[in-house]
Amino acid sequence: MTPIRIALVGLGKIARDQHCPALAGNPAFELVAGASPHSRIEGLPCYPDIESMFDHVSPISAVALCTTPQVRFETARYALAQGCDVLLEKPPGRAVSEVTALRGLAERQGAVLYASWHSRHARAVGAARSWLAGRRLRDVSVHWQEDVRVWHPGQRWIWQPGGLGVFDPGINALSILTQLVSGSLALREAVLSYPENCETPIAADLQLADCDDTPIRMTLDFLHAGEPRWDIRVVTDAGCLLLTHGGRDLEIDGRPWEVERGEEYPSLYAHFADLIGLRRSDVDLAPLQLVADAFLCGRRVEVAPFIEPAIRS
Ligand code: NAP
Repeated sequence: MTPIRIALVGLGKIARDQHCPALAGNPAFELVAGASPHSRIEGLPCYPDIESMFDHVSPISAVALCTTPQVRFETARYALAQGCDVLLEKPPGRAVSEVTALRGLAERQGAVLYASWHSRHARAVGAARSWLAGRRLRDVSVHWQEDVRVWHPGQRWIWQPGGLGVFDPGINALSILTQLVSGSLALREAVLSYPENCETPIAADLQLADCDDTPIRMTLDFLHAGEPRWDIRVVTDAGCLLLTHGGRDLEIDGRPWEVERGEEYPSLYAHFADLIGLRRSDVDLAPLQLVADAFLCGRRVEVAPFIEPAIRS
């Protein structure tokens, strides 16, 4: 089969660390170009913006948007208007309404829109979901805690409107949680801690519930020193499940549970290729909607300014 000619837009950390290797390892795709205001990838024709990339490279049939969320809408709209199939990095937009509008545009254009959630492709998530099916949930607790200074050095966009702050990683937990719990989740309460010099929160405590009113607590912390903690613990009527390392590993009743090997981004691109083959979009807004609800209902607490240490080059 002829490979899908795909371009990357936004050539930052995730494009380099994950998208390029995943594309190189998937014969369904051929990476043909990139666009980014300043960054370049060696050996790939690169342009400063999406418009000049389309002016110079033809045909491009799919685009993966790895930009900061703040420019996702404009770049996605442009790519869809060109008739391309589009993969959106998470979060799919900086507002729910943006992604709803993009879904409508994709439908009108006959294009495939994939709002990707990479954490859903973590290797133990499918096994966790299968184990939970048919069990009654009693209590769920989520700890998503990491040090922003280690994992996102210098990324100022995280602290600007639309950058989500601690929900940039926290939305990964929500993307898994919304797969594990059957039915919709409701946001009940939120406390959001804003450094006085930032426009997005650095910590958050959320209380959610499913339709059976199972208590679900989430603790998100962006100033957690040392080893990150990306855990989801689910107590059920028939055992206790612990998903660790962002969905990579699984324990049941304290014992390791064997799961198939697999990596997030190769699995994510395999899904995108399937969607393109089937001419089907995949746009699940539930994780972004819960974040939006936390911003809508959350109580705001002001905390000490966030001072980033000087970045060594
Ligand atoms: P990043 O390193 O700051 O990269 C963002 C890139 O977007 C930058 O390279 C920037 O270009 C580019 N950009 C900004 N405006 C643009 C525009 N108008 N057109 C084209 N490119 C533009 O951030 P990142 O860590 O890669 O994160 C990007 C997205 O991936 C975020 O939504 C994040 O949540 C998600 N993500 C990140 C990770 C991670 O571990 N970092 C993991 C999974 C998902 P220049 O460099 O050229 O100025």
